[in-house]
Parts: sequence; structure tokens; C-alpha cells
Amino acid sequence: MAYGVLSMKPTVLVTGGSRGIGLATARLFAASGYPTVINYNLSAEPALRTAREINAAGGMAIAVRADVSRPDDVAAMFDAAREQLGNVGILINNAAIAGQGLFTDTGYDEWKRTFAVNVDGMYLCCKAALPYMLREHCGCIVNLSSMWGQVGASCEVLYSATKAAVIGLTKALAQEVGPSGIRVNCVAPGVIDTGMNSHLSPDDLRELAECTPLMRLGSSDEVARTIFFLASDDASFITGQVICPNGGYVV
Ligand code: NAP
Repeated sequence: MAYGVLSMKPTVLVTGGSRGIGLATARLFAASGYPTVINYNLSAEPALRTAREINAAGGMAIAVRADVSRPDDVAAMFDAAREQLGNVGILINNAAIAGQGLFTDTGYDEWKRTFAVNVDGMYLCCKAALPYMLREHCGCIVNLSSMWGQVGASCEVLYSATKAAVIGLTKALAQEVGPSGIRVNCVAPGVIDTGMNSHLSPDDLRELAECTPLMRLGSSDEVARTIFFLASDDASFITGQVICPNGGYVV
């Protein structure tokens, strides 16, 4: 594998790296010596600040704005990654949006936007990353699904549908590119304490924690460590799998 420009480790690109699980994941890879591309869309400040902090501490990181649902943005992001840190050898498809409400109250635009970010974004990033990985006969993709993609959630039908699509994409792509030395896996977290759940009341969050056998919400760092494991050589015989840091909520 041709590594990052200045590092012996492959370049990692984390979509939605500005907040929550993506931010924790980008920090973990960077702290472990991986040249790290922190993608953001709207939250420029935390992404740029994190890249600055990583570089000041002797690591290698850039923050790149791209709306993952836009083909031109994704192409420009991969160009920036290649020029500044080297071709992307590890892709973490983490960016997503969620919404709550009765299915009958949702609009078609909301359906299309949720699929555009959560599924089209993943498609576009995989398409952009794979030519290099196929050429090198090496690479790793980790896609973020959700336990709601496995079992479905009332009042989150759109989100659940996109996260089920992520599992299908992961399993099929893993079979297709496995012979080319590329691993594709999926992480399906339970309820994690991030901004994605900030609309929930303290009572709702307490109830979700009580429904979790480990009796608490998960942290971004716990999910980041699962993602890191799947991208590491410790997971060298794991592909096409759905790994569930969910505290036992779905077993
Ligand atoms: P979060 O705190 O809401 O952060 C979402 C991230 O996605 C942000 O960095 C945001 O970037 C980015 N993003 C949104 N739209 C984007 C777009 N069009 N282009 C590029 N980036 C975009 O979410 P999270 O809780 O960390 O979730 C991360 C992943 O884990 C998601 O795939 C989510 O579905 C999954 N997950 C989360 C939970 C949970 O309980 N939190 C549970 C299961 C699965 P900007 O702010 O820069 O726009």
C-alpha cells in the first residue's frame, strides 16, 4: 500500500468528523499516528480547531468542508485529501442526519434529503475511495449504521430505512471487493450521548438508558474504539459484518 505522504500509516478520511462519534474517531486515528482528514459540512469551527490541535501536537490532520450528498463536494474533498495527506486508505462513512416524527407527517423532501446524506453520501465516498484501494489491493471501509437499521424505530422510519440500506450496502460491497483485499464493515451503535440525541428530554434519555441492559448511554469514544478496531489489522479477517456497540439493547 502506498501510505500517506509523510506517514507510514494510511490516510484516514472521517465524514462528519466535526462532532460526536466522527470527531472522537478522527481524534483517535490522529492520536495513533494516522494522517487524518476531518470532513465537516456546517460545523467549521470544531473541525478546523481539532485539525489545528492535532497538528500542534505533532500529528497530521486537515479539515475539509464537503456536503457528502453533493458529488462535486465529495470529488473536491478526495482531491484535497490526496494532495495534502495522500490517497485515502481507510474510509469512515459516519456523516448522517436524523429526524423524529410520525411517518404520516414526513414530507417527500425530508425522505429524499435523509437518503441523500445517509446513503448517497456513502455511495459517493465509496466510489471516490475505491479506485485507489482496488489499485493497491488494500483498503478498509467502515460504515455507520444504527441498531434502528437492524430492528426499526417507531417515529424514525426514514432514518431507520437509511440505516438498513447501509447494512445492505456494506454486506454486498464486502463480498464484491473482498477478493481485491478490501474489507468493508458496519458499526451499528445503540443510543450514544451525542448531539444527534440532544432533542430528547432528560426523562426520555433516562428511559433509553433503562432499556439498555448496561443501564446507560454509550459514549462517542466507545464507538470510536469499535471503528478503530475494525479498521486495524486486529480485524484482518473480519469483513461484511455488523458490529454493535449498543450496551445489549439489541441482541
Ligand atoms: P451528530 O453528533 O449529529 O453529528 C453528525 C455529523 O454528521 C456532524 O459532524 C455533521 O457535520 C455531519 N453531517 C451531517 N450532514 C452532513 C453532510 N451533508 N455532509 C457532511 N457531513 C454531514 O451525530 P452522531 O451521533 O455523532 O452520529 C454519527 C453516526 O453514528 C451517524 O451515522 C449516526 O447515524 C450514527 N449513530 C448515532 C447514534 C447515536 O445515538 N448518536 C446511534 C446509532 C448510530 P456538520 O455539523 O459539520 O454539518
